[in-house]
Amino acid sequence: MPQAQIIDGKAIAESVRGEITERAAKLLSETGKRPGLAVVLVGEDPASQVYVRNKDRAAEACGFHSVKHTMPADSSEDAVLGMVDQLNNDPDIHGILVQLPLPGHIDESKVLRLIKPEKDVDGFHPINVGLLTAGERDSALVPCTPAGSLVLLKRTFGDTLSGKNAVVVGRSNIVGKPMASLLLQESCTVTIAHSRTKDLPDVVRAADIVVAAVGRPEMIKGDWIKPGATVIDVGINRIPAPEKGEGKSRLVGDVAFDEAAEHAGAITPVPGGVGPMTIAMLMVNTLTAARRLMGLPEDEPLF
Ligand code: NAP
Repeated sequence: MPQAQIIDGKAIAESVRGEITERAAKLLSETGKRPGLAVVLVGEDPASQVYVRNKDRAAEACGFHSVKHTMPADSSEDAVLGMVDQLNNDPDIHGILVQLPLPGHIDESKVLRLIKPEKDVDGFHPINVGLLTAGERDSALVPCTPAGSLVLLKRTFGDTLSGKNAVVVGRSNIVGKPMASLLLQESCTVTIAHSRTKDLPDVVRAADIVVAAVGRPEMIKGDWIKPGATVIDVGINRIPAPEKGEGKSRLVGDVAFDEAAEHAGAITPVPGGVGPMTIAMLMVNTLTAARRLMGLPEDEPLF
């Protein structure tokens, strides 16, 4: 039986989205303008279609102006760059998100670098990466998944992250590295582990906070977790679930949840942990971008 507090990402994401809906309504009453989010999807990857639809729906539910641009898989790089350019210059659009991955013939970094940093609600533009790394989080747009993970940590610990040993497993630009930057800015002592890390179980055992962003189902075992540690499982892995019927599958994280819950003080489930926070933080970033582009003072930070 799990001993740990289960961190309810779904409920926390709902509360964040509720707050954003209220703030967007206030913006509308004060300025007559809505935050505008444009999502660009190139091709027909089924998973990307689901993500884009969910982002579009979430934006509408928050009262945003939401636009979805679907382009054929064989669109030229110039056509995609042209779309970004058009959105960069559209005064009703404050946030631009190009759904990744892009088809192989399109240079992803070229597309991401063309997005105006002020509208880069995914936080992947080098300007936003640089601001975050320089410790200027409040001027940046921060990638949504690590930002959401930090909200979960703060709702669990309050503002007392300072001095804690944090181990981030995974060093991707989307999750691991920005997560490490955020934790460093919270004055954690941060270790970034990856596929070449030696004695990973022992590295993880030293952590008060473990963030797993690996993409390997249930790789992090229960006896790697220091008693009382907080575990944030970013991983989303689909594995076969023959017990549910032939051909069925289920989602698991990068952490062996049942085992880890016997050691951890608090842990996020998969699904229902970090996942729902990602879209909620996209809404936060879009509203932040809108207020900045309108020259308005920023709302109280949510994390
Ligand atoms: P990624 O780009 O594939 O990066 C994976 C990282 O894990 C790499 O840094 C890799 O190390 C490291 N790694 C791989 N095998 C390892 C091992 N055996 N031991 C230690 N480290 C290992 O993945 P990502 O984009 O960061 O995503 C990670 C996971 O999070 C995936 O399951 C993804 O689906 C999920 N995700 C969830 C959300 C969400 O909304 N909840 C958002 C984004 C991603 P090297 O650098 O040395 O190769």
